[in-house]
Amino acid sequence: MTNHDHERALDLIMRRGPEQITAPEAAWLESHLAACPQCAQYVNDFDNTGRLLRSVAITASPRLVAATQQRLRARALQMREQQTRMVLIAISFCIGAMSSALSAWLWWKFGGWAVERLSLPVSIVAPGIFLFLLLPAVVIAALMLAFPQPVFESRFMAALAREREGDNQ
Ligand SMILES: [Zn+2]
Repeated sequence: MTNHDHERALDLIMRRGPEQITAPEAAWLESHLAACPQCAQYVNDFDNTGRLLRSVAITASPRLVAATQQRLRARALQMREQQTRMVLIAISFCIGAMSSALSAWLWWKFGGWAVERLSLPVSIVAPGIFLFLLLPAVVIAALMLAFPQPVFESRFMAALAREREGDNQ
C-alpha cells in the first residue's frame, strides 16, 4: 500500500458525504478500508466529528441577530460620522484659506492708505501682506483659546451623521 493509496482513501472519505462518489471509487475505498486499519480509524473519527457538529445546533438566536445588526449599524454610523468630520475639516480649511486671501488682499489694496493715515513707515506695506495672511489664523486661534469648548462635539457630529443617514433612506 502506497502513500498515494491512503491519500486517495482520505479524499474519498471526505467527499462521499456531501458529494456523490462513483461506484468503482466506493468499491475501491471499501477494499482499502478492509485492509488498512489507519484509514478505517479515520473514517470512524470523521463520522464522529460529523455527528458531534450536527448535534450542536448552530442557529443564531433572535437576540444574537439583533445584537449583530446593532453593532453593524453603530459601525456604519461611526463611518458616516468620520466622513462628516472630513467634510467639516475641508470646509474649515477653505474658509481659512479664503479669509487669509481676503485679509491679505484688503491690506494690499488699503495698506498704503492705512500707513499714511497712521503715519507709519512705508517700508512695512510689503511685509504687512504676510502679517495679514496670518492674521485670520491668529484670530481663530485666539478665539479657540478663549472658548476651549470643542465646536465639533461628538454628539453634534452624531446628529449630523444621523441626519445624512435619514437623507439616504
Ligand atoms: Zn489507508
